[in-house]
Amino acid sequence: MSDHITEYQGSATMDKITSLAKRRGFVFQSSEIYGGQNGAWDYGPLGVELKNRIARNWWKEMTQLHDDIVGLDAAILMHPRTWEASGHVENFTDPLVDCRKCKTRFRADQIPPENLAAKKCPDCGGDLTDTRKFNLMFKTHIGAVEDEAGIIYLRPETAQGIYVNYKNIIQSNRMKIPFGIAQIGKAFRNEIVTKNFIFRTCEFEQMEMQFFVKPGTDVEWFNEWKKRRWAYYEKLGVRMDSLRWHRHGPDELAHYAKDAYDIEYLFPMGWKELEGVHNRSNYDLTRHTQYSGKDLQYIDQENNNERYIPFIIETSAGLTRTLLMLLCDAYDEEKVISEKNSGSAEGNASGDTPHGTGGSADDWRTVLRFHPAVAPVTVAVLPLMKKDGLAELAQDIRSGLKEDFATDYDQAGAIGRRYRRQDEAGTPFCVTVDYESKENGTVTLRFRDSMEQIRVHKDELAKRLYQEIKAYKRIK
Ligand code: ATP
Repeated sequence: MSDHITEYQGSATMDKITSLAKRRGFVFQSSEIYGGQNGAWDYGPLGVELKNRIARNWWKEMTQLHDDIVGLDAAILMHPRTWEASGHVENFTDPLVDCRKCKTRFRADQIPPENLAAKKCPDCGGDLTDTRKFNLMFKTHIGAVEDEAGIIYLRPETAQGIYVNYKNIIQSNRMKIPFGIAQIGKAFRNEIVTKNFIFRTCEFEQMEMQFFVKPGTDVEWFNEWKKRRWAYYEKLGVRMDSLRWHRHGPDELAHYAKDAYDIEYLFPMGWKELEGVHNRSNYDLTRHTQYSGKDLQYIDQENNNERYIPFIIETSAGLTRTLLMLLCDAYDEEKVISEKNSGSAEGNASGDTPHGTGGSADDWRTVLRFHPAVAPVTVAVLPLMKKDGLAELAQDIRSGLKEDFATDYDQAGAIGRRYRRQDEAGTPFCVTVDYESKENGTVTLRFRDSMEQIRVHKDELAKRLYQEIKAYKRIK
């Protein structure tokens, strides 16, 4: 394990991230015109692209790159017995205390122990109630009558949808142990403390993979999955000294877990869980066997029909939390020296005379250094000027790239300012079309991170972009 930094090194703060996210259309408060809905957020045009790309990237990593993992998309609504079997009805609780004076509700494990012992509110000094268990599952009713028989839960994790389908998948897809099932989907938790933007919300998305193994091989597979999940973040270009492992102590271990590690990220508000890698033993399938009455043993046909209940290694990451991590990790502010468009004068597409970069010689830029695999826009096409056929040529070039890349087009304002807008959206490549392009078909390819500019023939662009994406290494 590498040495870790202890203080957040980036220039992001949660305030800057929240305001950039809103300004550029990554994330909006849910139902904002009504004052907002606590614990719920909406993903705008750039946000939904980023979220979809993170999901697709994880999906590719887990399914396409692993022959022994298949996908599933299970329903959010499940038979209520599921949650009795899983232990959620009994155990999925937070300890809560209320202040009788200021009415604030706290998680008992998140206030100073001395306040809890003295039953004094950390905010106003008022009296605290006794600690009560509060179940985090959202409960609602299904059917026309609101009675006990119609109680149904919004799933608090996606994992159970995988466990109840494990036999179906073995039968339909002839899977043999060891194998895994991957799923991405919504989960709901009635979280009491939902601060820190989208870090902890009541409605969120998970990317979970459950890997079924023979008992006795579980420790080996657990270590293997720890390695693979660590390598995944490395491949995504995350600052690796901002990640660390945290092993759950005996009093942190969930009721199902034999061993558990979290991958934590150093967010601006401190080290926080990003993903859990858990050895869930045979707890889940044993319980579902008991509660459903169905035999969920695996029959090993290659081994004299040996029967056993598999152990499960789980990798459970938050999709929306990963999005927040990537926003923080990618965020940078830096001073730049005036940036010119190579081979030609600075351009202002909306005016007639080419002029400045849109800032002074010593300019600051905000840049999101997303990996091109997840960046909401991969390439933006910018005509240096609107006139003289440059806009038409740029549109043509964009059309040629659309089928293969997420593109944007911008012709408004000075070229320097347009580069800044793309930097702030995290677009890794800009293509600038100028007078030389008309003459010899070459365009400027500008790299977000280094701001380096090279000339490439327009017919070579797609190939070059593929190469650059494949070879991408974060430089800062
Ligand atoms: P915490 O201790 O933060 O409440 P947890 O240990 O209960 O989380 P898990 O049940 O292991 O979390 O969930 C797996 C992953 O799902 C977490 O690592 C996190 O990325 C994500 N996640 C869990 N709860 C939330 C939430 N309320 N909002 C956003 N993401 C969440």
